[in-house]
Amino acid sequence: MHKGTASTLALSRQALDIISKKQLTHEEASWLNDQTISGFRNHINPGFLEYRKSVTAGGQFAAIEWRASGPNTLVDTAGREYIDCLGGFGIFNVGHRHPKVVAAVEQQLAKQPLHSQELLDPLRALLAKMLAGIAPGDLEYCFFGNSGTESVEAAIKLAKAYQSPHGKTAFVATNGGFHGKSLGALSATSKAVFRKPFAPLVPGFRHVPFGDLEAMRDTLYACQNAGDGVAAVIVEPIQGEGGVIIPPADYLPGLRKLCDEVGALLIIDEVQTGMGRTGKMFACEHSGVVPDILCLAKALGGGVMPISATLASEKVFSVLFDNPFLHTTTFGGNPMACAAGIATINVLLEEALPEQAERVGSYLLQGLQELAEDFTDLIVTVRGQGMLQAIEFAHNQLGYSFAKAMFDAGVLVAGTLINAKTVRIEPPLTFTEALADKVLIIAEQVLLQLREKKAAAPSNVGEKVTS
Ligand code: PLP
Repeated sequence: MHKGTASTLALSRQALDIISKKQLTHEEASWLNDQTISGFRNHINPGFLEYRKSVTAGGQFAAIEWRASGPNTLVDTAGREYIDCLGGFGIFNVGHRHPKVVAAVEQQLAKQPLHSQELLDPLRALLAKMLAGIAPGDLEYCFFGNSGTESVEAAIKLAKAYQSPHGKTAFVATNGGFHGKSLGALSATSKAVFRKPFAPLVPGFRHVPFGDLEAMRDTLYACQNAGDGVAAVIVEPIQGEGGVIIPPADYLPGLRKLCDEVGALLIIDEVQTGMGRTGKMFACEHSGVVPDILCLAKALGGGVMPISATLASEKVFSVLFDNPFLHTTTFGGNPMACAAGIATINVLLEEALPEQAERVGSYLLQGLQELAEDFTDLIVTVRGQGMLQAIEFAHNQLGYSFAKAMFDAGVLVAGTLINAKTVRIEPPLTFTEALADKVLIIAEQVLLQLREKKAAAPSNVGEKVTS
């Protein structure tokens, strides 16, 4: 017997016991806290403990996640409730544990959680049809994966398969863009810190300034003139991790036109902006642009299951018809994930959550903008669309101090992966005006504290904060 076998068996019993509980005693909570911190330190990555704002310097008062306490709130093992203004970086669009999503997943779980891999699975077909029904234009076909990264990876491979017979293999992405961290997706992501240790990445990727049509035009034509055919341009309609950067209104239509001119595909990455987040089901609908390939993930699983989708027109997707095994993954489109996706779309439509995101989002944004006017010494600007919003501070440390103080006051917010001085406000779309008022009052108090403390010394802490 391996030396750890007996203790592992004992630990599994304790862990299963904890999983079975709805409430924890003080003793159980403190056991779980210790296990969590030591597990992160010794078996996950101690680096996480260093910057999590939920962990104090000594690690002894860490906030350990326990359960969702309502659509817009969660509770830690100490029973502290947090208003969720982060939405799991965009996964909780329909709120936490929406009863319809939970029920669909539980019902499917009771029948068959995962698929045989041989018979045709019905929920995959139904969800694909529903996505085709809500997607813009002629995006009729769909590949399912498990993460945003996988949806981008599939998009890149699909574009390559479609374009390489025409000699087009280059890609143009944008500065500040975030598309995931697998080697392909990372090649489209722009942040040097994430890319450098893994160089060389997939060849043929270039990055141009986001929101700048002239720069895109120059690069596309430079590529064309050099005989370096561009397979696709990949962009987010609003850069999420880049700091909620909203491009000019003519940007996406301009990109569409440029791509058509040079015969490049347009990949729109709506992993974060999709599923109602910005006030429409998909952010590209604000400008009426139809991409050739659309990437979805995060909120598609209703905050209950991981699932991603890569949608494309028949023209593009048909390169996979002859051999559907050219790109596959075991768990992509599994029955529980598809059950979650089906329920999520039902909830988004039935409860008109994109419209709610537009309404409550405008209300919250206006409140934040008024705060920004009162705190020009701390806040550079506030921006957003629907429920994807950001407060940009003068520097990273200030952004981090704000997020930490909001956390201490019971509101979850966070920096963005590429731009730590920018604190994102990304609540579930089920957020209400009343909750927005509460958050605005707390934010004002926190800003007053920050002003008092003059927490203004620039440092690079924020770089690590959002790693
Ligand atoms: N694309 C965008 C626009 C994202 O915001 C993200 C994650 O934040 C990804 C892709 C990667 O998604 P995942 O973390 O699910 O792999």
